[in-house]
Amino acid sequence: MPTYSRVDISFERGEGVYLFDTTGQRYLDFASGIAVNALGHCHPHLVESVRKQVGKLWHTSNLYNIPGQQKLAKRLVDVTFADSVFFANSGSEAVECSLKMARKYHDDNGNPQRYRVIAFDNAFHGRTLSTIAAGGQEKSLAGFAPNVKGFDHVPFGSLGDVLGAITIETAAILVEPIQGEGGIRPADAEFLRGLRKAADEHGILLIFDEVQCGMGRTGKLFAHEWTGIFPDIMPIAKGLGGGFPVAACLATENAATALSAGSHGSTFGGNPLSMAAANAVLDIMLAPGFLENVDEIAKKWWELLCDLASTYPGVIEEIRGSGLMIGIKCKTDSAKMISCLFDGGMLSVGAVGNVVRLLPPLTVEESHISEAMKILRKACSKIIEDAKNA
Ligand SMILES: *Cc1c(COP(=O)(O)O)cnc(C)c1O
Repeated sequence: MPTYSRVDISFERGEGVYLFDTTGQRYLDFASGIAVNALGHCHPHLVESVRKQVGKLWHTSNLYNIPGQQKLAKRLVDVTFADSVFFANSGSEAVECSLKMARKYHDDNGNPQRYRVIAFDNAFHGRTLSTIAAGGQEKSLAGFAPNVKGFDHVPFGSLGDVLGAITIETAAILVEPIQGEGGIRPADAEFLRGLRKAADEHGILLIFDEVQCGMGRTGKLFAHEWTGIFPDIMPIAKGLGGGFPVAACLATENAATALSAGSHGSTFGGNPLSMAAANAVLDIMLAPGFLENVDEIAKKWWELLCDLASTYPGVIEEIRGSGLMIGIKCKTDSAKMISCLFDGGMLSVGAVGNVVRLLPPLTVEESHISEAMKILRKACSKIIEDAKNA
């Protein structure tokens, strides 16, 4: 279907932070399949773990115990606020699970009138009917009316507007700790703490959508860990399987009991093959020093990027984000920057508001950063050059 406007290139294989196209041309992959290939391409431990599982068992359905699921759930519970995990196949489904949980939670507590969710301008939560309603973007909703009911949008970062939007019908607040598609915009810690406080005061569930900013991207396993407060529910996906489609919705016991037996489900969710991939990802990410290393290399890179921004103030307005979730807000057309980077042999991703997203694999090394900086410098001077000649 004509759903995507694709770049006309086909990749044949990947190796670490590099992708190779069908002509053998090498690209530095700082798109990572939109923050999915968190450990780069063909990480030997992932390849080996999935290869082993492929020869044993792929799928049994959730009619039976799945030991890989129990193992992964326990590991996620051990390292987060959560007590309970539901497995799904995509970010949208994990968000959908969180929304259903919020409604059912209040219904179970005798408050079926509490179904509305406060969400934020510029948000992105997926492409199903309910998640486009949660995102609230005109361009995602256009043509798909009637919209799923029950979402109230307020400006991202404005606690006053959130407080003003809370009514006796409010069930949950849904927020990305760092907006991804919306332009790599981090919520400040004070704002998130304010949301937690408001949620506690009003008996509202707080949902952090960490589908993009989670799984080590910011140098902690989850972005909210930088703030010292915790959500009640957290959908995750993208980096979780390192390229294998798998998602999860994490929740406190209090929230999770709402999804009692038979109330929700998935045929494919958490099948043995996806669990082998996700468990292998956690083997690497939870190994001592891994996340510290992400934080360390990100800090070094940020310095270089901020230097670049001050060298090219006519091209770059701002560097923003956290860790290895980086947005370059361009003064000029971001599509031009993306195509200059591409011509230089580097992949990046666009975002709302003239932003170029740099989302390298978390295994990126200093030599790759130097290589990226060379390509970035060249792109900036090309943009200036072309502007002069225009
Ligand atoms: C990508 C994304 C989703 C949707 O994930 P899919 O796997 O595409 O359904 C939801 N929320 C956020 C924050 C995302 O970045």
